[in-house]
Amino acid sequence: MIDLKDQHITIAGAARSGVAAATLLKRKGAIPFLSDAGSVQPHFADKLRAESIEFEENSHSERALSGDFLVLSPGVPTQSPIAQHYLMNGKPVISEIELASWFNRSPIVAVTGSNGKTTVVNWMHHMWKTAEKECIVAGNIGYAFSELVEKTAPEKDVLLEVSSFQLDHINRFHPSVAVILNITPDHLDRYNSSFKDYAASKFRIAENQTEKDWFIYNYDDSTVSGFAKKLSERANAPQLMAFSTESETPQGAFVRNGKLIFRLDNKEETLMDIDDIALPGKHNLSNGMATALAARASEIRNEHIRESLRSFEGVEHRLEYVRTFNGVKYINDSKATNINAVWFALDSFNVPLVLILGGRDKGNDYRELESQLRKKVHTIIAIGEAKNAIKAQIGDVVPTFAEADSMKEAVKKAASVAKRGEVVLLSPACASFDMFDNYEHRGKIYKQAVLEL
Ligand code: ADP
Repeated sequence: MIDLKDQHITIAGAARSGVAAATLLKRKGAIPFLSDAGSVQPHFADKLRAESIEFEENSHSERALSGDFLVLSPGVPTQSPIAQHYLMNGKPVISEIELASWFNRSPIVAVTGSNGKTTVVNWMHHMWKTAEKECIVAGNIGYAFSELVEKTAPEKDVLLEVSSFQLDHINRFHPSVAVILNITPDHLDRYNSSFKDYAASKFRIAENQTEKDWFIYNYDDSTVSGFAKKLSERANAPQLMAFSTESETPQGAFVRNGKLIFRLDNKEETLMDIDDIALPGKHNLSNGMATALAARASEIRNEHIRESLRSFEGVEHRLEYVRTFNGVKYINDSKATNINAVWFALDSFNVPLVLILGGRDKGNDYRELESQLRKKVHTIIAIGEAKNAIKAQIGDVVPTFAEADSMKEAVKKAASVAKRGEVVLLSPACASFDMFDNYEHRGKIYKQAVLEL
């Protein structure tokens, strides 16, 4: 364990993970100083005062720039002046999960990817509970790793959702089981528009793994499987398992004749009918297989894996069923903030759809949805700042294109055109901040409008 006693450590960003990191550092005898270029929310400020942790807001002072090293919150970019200052002075910059991992005593099961992380970590949690195996769930969901790391112990697994921003600044972070779900363009603004850099940051999840560890990956994703091939040639490479909905994997999970099969050390085990997996859509088949392999790597038995693949109820705002009204099913997929997630949402349905799309555009190419739209969607209802871009790119791809100024209006318009047996889907492909506080708020307003119909 590292001795941090009396070290002056700056933490950039005073939100959940920054505050958690500072609190952990304080408990370890260090002298943390939190610095935020913006304002600090009152409940975080109160917590810091209660812990006697010094902090500043709205600028970075000389003191912030002169720490022994810097802990960078995932919300603060590597390009920010404070991170650049430390890097240019040759001082360490680490992420919050790196810091927490210095004090970790549990096996870590870490999940990264562009889409599906929260779903898989929650699914794993359900699986671990079903198997009555102790675990701690942390990362982007609920609690920061730093908040819970002192509860770790060898007999408990840590189930961790990890973003690329957290992986950007690791040194020793070492998961026993690493899972990469997929890599599609997202957050490229923080990677100098380079997909290669973004992917490289996700691959760092395996950087410190050794032959005792497991690396679980998506065989169908060419970026990820290309990396896995290189990884397998590395000295000390972890053991590899892959999952695929398209083809038979040499080691891992795949589908044959509608059945989910594990192939491990050249032995095959038939697990279940894929139709019995609880969540809809091909992407959730991938997610379920990733979850199942992570459980296998953590010595959870097939009977528990099977049971929890069947009984998982999913996560709010991810293809969440809201209600059936006048024979029309309403689905909330507010968390679909990029094109890839919408593509898979559309792929999950085999009935005609009304699609509510839009919000704050992140430079989307909506034409990537064209084949799905032509097959399934009869009406697009565009909302938010992205309305014009959506209209210009795909307005003429579907029979009816409409616009709405509020979610309530969008839902009303959708209800007026959807017929019995059809689906109304909110899957916006955009950020929510033009009209809502966040995607959860957007999803709640949608559900409220649906329930008020
Ligand atoms: P993350 O935590 O990585 O953002 P979520 O589980 O919150 O992922 O899901 C985000 C969005 O992506 C949701 O709309 C969900 O339906 C969709 N999604 C979930 N899993 C996948 C996947 N494997 N591939 C593509 N889209 C997915």
